[in-house]
Amino acid sequence: MVELSKGANRIYGEAAFEVLAKAQELERQGKNILHFEIGEPDMETPNNIVQAGIQAIQDKKTHYTPSIGTLNLRKAVQDEVEKTRGYRPDLKQVVITPGLKPGIFFSMLSIVNPGDEVIYQDPGYPTYGSVTSFLGAKNVKIPLLEENEFRMNPGDVRDRITKKTKLIIVNSPQNPTGSMMTKSELDGIAELAEEHDIFVVSDEIYSKMTYDTKHYTTTARDGAKKRTVLLDGFSKYYAMTGWRLGYMVAPPKMAERLNDFLVSAVSCTAAFTQWAGLEALTGDQSFISKMMARFKEKRDRIVKGLNSIPNFTCLAPKGAFYAFPNIKKTGMSSQECADHLLYKAGVAVLPGTAFGPYGEGYLRFSYATTLEKIDVAIERIKQSFE
Ligand code: PMP
Repeated sequence: MVELSKGANRIYGEAAFEVLAKAQELERQGKNILHFEIGEPDMETPNNIVQAGIQAIQDKKTHYTPSIGTLNLRKAVQDEVEKTRGYRPDLKQVVITPGLKPGIFFSMLSIVNPGDEVIYQDPGYPTYGSVTSFLGAKNVKIPLLEENEFRMNPGDVRDRITKKTKLIIVNSPQNPTGSMMTKSELDGIAELAEEHDIFVVSDEIYSKMTYDTKHYTTTARDGAKKRTVLLDGFSKYYAMTGWRLGYMVAPPKMAERLNDFLVSAVSCTAAFTQWAGLEALTGDQSFISKMMARFKEKRDRIVKGLNSIPNFTCLAPKGAFYAFPNIKKTGMSSQECADHLLYKAGVAVLPGTAFGPYGEGYLRFSYATTLEKIDVAIERIKQSFE
């Protein structure tokens, strides 16, 4: 057999899709499954955005656009970043991507060499570790501890910085714990990056999905001009996961390289998607506050419910739509407990270990579902342990 590349043997996927496949197999056998495994909003894309997409197709916005994105959407992103982050990036810093994920991939490809060290949160979004391994770099994981409300501590980061550290990845609000770092912690990370000449990539896909505190970005320190990269996207808070649309704000030299990565990999982001995105950023924003009011109700319901299950305890998440209960007192591993819930209670969740070894002892519930389903799931879980 001809061998695949070393990198191809190091890259890995996501457990969410595997659990979904198992759950769907049970559904085919006639079992009723409640889904808490997939990380996407349960709302439809707002109608004004859908209509803008349809109109764009009818207006023949069905050709290539510049690889870096359409001018009007990039300008709208400039305004958006100024409004939400307090600094106005130059146009040449703004790059449109098909979803946020290519932003992670291409920014890491632009920054990381084999042998470099990449620091990120554990439990954390699997893509960071997968791409680090693919690039032949070293995965340096910062444990997120429940005692610290699952926030990344700059002191822990400092202890792990070496001469080889090239990149720190920050995600706040965080997947899978729903934690949010404080302004002083984020500033602490930025200061370390300045002191040791390290890049910071900030994954802010949940920036508008906060409950009690306001979102803050590390990239405000240098306006993403020197060493920070802002990644955000339309998937979550505009309920646009399937449209594939995101953006990056990067130091100008890096943005030029990112353009070439896009040219080489995708040519451009779908034209009509970009027009829909323009409407998302410039049209009525009331969808987001309505969605978040509903998510807050669901958060409170699921946190209360999870805390009422014997041997489960759960902190209230500060952002996103994930609850991350501690199940250590059940005596089961995360994987055993997730399987138990799927096969004995018909509730599909992810083991905390799907997000790294420090997720052991926890489960991730995505509560993008109805209040009724949350109630039924809690009841079924309780019964499954009786
Ligand atoms: N970053 C994080 C932290 C996420 O949770 C997700 C979605 N699960 C993404 C990035 C991916 O976003 P997109 O679908 O826009 O590529």
